[in-house]
Amino acid sequence: MRTKTIVAIDGPAGAGKSTIAKRLAARIGADYIDTGAMYRAVALKLLRTGTDYKDPEALQTMLDAMDVDFSEGHTILDGEDVSGLIRTPEISALASPSSGVPAIRYKLTALQQAMGKRKSIVMDGRDIGTVVFPDADFKFFLTASADERARRRTEEMRAKGDPADFETIRADIIQRDYQDSHREFRPLRKADGAVEIDSTDMSIESVVDTMMAFIEARDR
Ligand code: C5P
Repeated sequence: MRTKTIVAIDGPAGAGKSTIAKRLAARIGADYIDTGAMYRAVALKLLRTGTDYKDPEALQTMLDAMDVDFSEGHTILDGEDVSGLIRTPEISALASPSSGVPAIRYKLTALQQAMGKRKSIVMDGRDIGTVVFPDADFKFFLTASADERARRRTEEMRAKGDPADFETIRADIIQRDYQDSHREFRPLRKADGAVEIDSTDMSIESVVDTMMAFIEARDR
């Protein structure tokens, strides 16, 4: 990569953003940052401290004393590696509604913008191209049908030995899509100028190759 580059990848749950962003980051020598993991870490802290995210004062007290980082594939909450604790259905269910609260989004957006000042990054989430880095060098909006996203997630969980149920996962994906794209504050939407890629019938490698083609076209 010639210069410091910021790549923003947004899209709904289960579209393959993290796998693809990770591979793209490795190909261009950038750091990968999973902002969904940061919202999940906040949900974990809400649970641990028994904080109600609808109580503005209690929430602000919690946020002021909280540090969230994402580094080398690990999610760090107040210095503790919580990567293994944030992929539960309980955390997914809390991360989606709590991420609609402005105070939480302000805090994480500032942390994410600071990460992009230092080096080249590929960042994935719901608002990276719209809010966090509206001037990103490259913006992609990655989608796939709800059925295909549920199928992939079910397979991924079964591969880890989890007896995942397709219908339950599909219902969860549809509910999170609705919540994420209908929230009042900074909903999920395609950024101006973003390239939309529908990965329903594409392999991971061909999605990464498609993104690489855009990046290489600029560097040529
Ligand atoms: O990407 P992942 O599914 O791990 O994200 C968990 C939740 O965090 C999402 O359902 C979404 O509500 C929220 N999120 C967000 N903005 C981001 C990343 C994630 O609101 N940039």
